[in-house]
Amino acid sequence: MSIGVKTVRPPETETSYLRAVLKGMALTFRHLVDPDKVTELYPEEKPPLATRWRGTHRMEVHADGRPKCVACGLCPTICPANCIRLVPGEDDQGNRYPVVYEIDEFRCIFCGMCQEVCPVEAIHVGQDFENAEYTRERFIYDLDRLMAQDHPVTALWDPEDPLGQ
Ligand code: SF4
Ligand code: SF4
Repeated sequence: MSIGVKTVRPPETETSYLRAVLKGMALTFRHLVDPDKVTELYPEEKPPLATRWRGTHRMEVHADGRPKCVACGLCPTICPANCIRLVPGEDDQGNRYPVVYEIDEFRCIFCGMCQEVCPVEAIHVGQDFENAEYTRERFIYDLDRLMAQDHPVTALWDPEDPLGQ
């Protein structure tokens, strides 16, 4: 199939843009009085997010305040952006726990694979997007900050409902 090329030249004589301006204003006015148009009053009113929307991470916590992570190492291994830093530790009873657990939310591509792979459902991507910062350092969420997140977590992919409907 050949591709047609249309050359647009600027007008050689003086042209009035009044018609185009009036057309634009008529469109604006039509939207102004259209009762079906909705204006969202963000940030006072938050937009609804899909259950599978993936944003800021959240670490689940035990009732006694410990993180649920057992420092298995799966999420930093699978992370395609290499943005999870884990330093594992072990207590006297041989239980593993994260001494250091950090996620660089700036490098993260929010693929959700860390959540999918976690065997104890500790780390989750979440339904939150209000994570803008002024410095790159602030995008690195340490364990305390991840545990302090309280937004809803993202629903896992369900093969019986592939479109999440
Ligand atoms: S969502 Fe993906 S890119 Fe982000 S931390 Fe998890 S595995 Fe890495
Ligand atoms: S996959 Fe889960 S348990 Fe394993 S290191 Fe990551 S958060 Fe911790």
